[in-house]
Amino acid sequence: MNVELISIGDELLIGQTINTNASWLGAELSHLGANILRSTSIPDDDKQIQKTLHKALFDADLVIITGGLGPTKDDITKQALADYFNDELAIDRPTLEHVQRFFSHRKLPFLDVNIQQAAVPKSCTILHNKLGTAPGMWFEDRGKVVISLPGVPYEMMEIMREEGLPRIKKKWTIRSFYFKTGNLQGIGESYLADQIQDIEEELKREELSLAYLPSPGLIRLRIGSKNGQEQSERIDSYFAEIEKRFPKHFYGYGTETLAEKIGILLQKNKVTVGTIESCTAGKIAAEIGSVAGASAYFEGGIVSYSNRLKEQLVGVRPETIEKFGAVSEEVAKEMAIFGKQKLSVDYCIAVSGLAGPTGASEQKPIGTTWIAIATPDKISTQKFIFENNRQRNITRSVLSALNMLRLELEYS
Ligand code: ATP
Repeated sequence: MNVELISIGDELLIGQTINTNASWLGAELSHLGANILRSTSIPDDDKQIQKTLHKALFDADLVIITGGLGPTKDDITKQALADYFNDELAIDRPTLEHVQRFFSHRKLPFLDVNIQQAAVPKSCTILHNKLGTAPGMWFEDRGKVVISLPGVPYEMMEIMREEGLPRIKKKWTIRSFYFKTGNLQGIGESYLADQIQDIEEELKREELSLAYLPSPGLIRLRIGSKNGQEQSERIDSYFAEIEKRFPKHFYGYGTETLAEKIGILLQKNKVTVGTIESCTAGKIAAEIGSVAGASAYFEGGIVSYSNRLKEQLVGVRPETIEKFGAVSEEVAKEMAIFGKQKLSVDYCIAVSGLAGPTGASEQKPIGTTWIAIATPDKISTQKFIFENNRQRNITRSVLSALNMLRLELEYS
């Protein structure tokens, strides 16, 4: 089944709204086994809507349109669709009653313009919108289907889950796309690609797809099959090989985060953790604390951004800062060792780095970061030189620190 997505809205073209509808629909439909041919964003313009729909229906079996269904003047999708299908708009009674109930429940004034929310092309089947007032619409034309949905993401998703996807599954028998995603931290995309060249070749031979999904500090590797679950064991065995090759980087599957992973390990080992953070200013603590049930192993942390608080709250010696500078192995070590005592925890993560953009020196470029982990019986440190971007440096510091703790918990 070939699919084309059309996203309507001036705001998408001028960068005011990120097109999350297209990415959600793309994920859901490819999961079903559909082939996404194209995704196009166009303005709220009658001619563009009709022209784009005409072109899309040339190649695609299913066209999904989002946006432009509201009651305002710029919302012209419905009329454009009626014109395209040589149809006319008429009030749909059940939709009108739903819209009226929607307004009266919320004690909102019901205006004439709201009646128009219930006007739809006569030839369409209504896809009920229980979270909003603009209904979704399903058109069939010479064996092809056009679905029109509101632009508001949560309304669009609800209509698809409840009405659109079940109808699509009924109309087309498609072999579902099965995939598994493995997550790696702290490894470069090109290095990884170089190291798994042989695996990539084998995957190709077995007609399995491989995708690299990088973000700062992380790479998600997705291996997929167009034959549903049939090749799931083959995919598992490829991942087992990748895990074996990169134990320091490979930390989990699917949506599992590093914070969740260390949460499991800390609980399993019945130990606690705390954080002493400088350049990450509490983000490591926030990440650990974002996991449900973190209170079982997370005691808390100190944000010691200034040298004064590194000394006064954590106990770092002034002479260590004086001699080596705040961003140094010695200071990170003292932060972790004294922090572990102060917080009375089994493991303490400490981070001190130059997130930038200012403060660099010849010996310490922007991105220089020292991370120390104090464990019950030792202290490990690592120096990183990230990049010249503050936000990415912070993200990469957080992920690297969590991964260092994971390695201590898993392999020491
Ligand atoms: P409603 O009648 O419920 O307003 P609508 O179809 O008229 O639905 P739009 O007016 O096009 O929807 O957009 C409503 C909101 O949804 C806007 O805030 C818009 O930015 C957002 N939106 C529209 N299209 C997308 C999209 N493709 N991805 C993410 N958000 C979107």
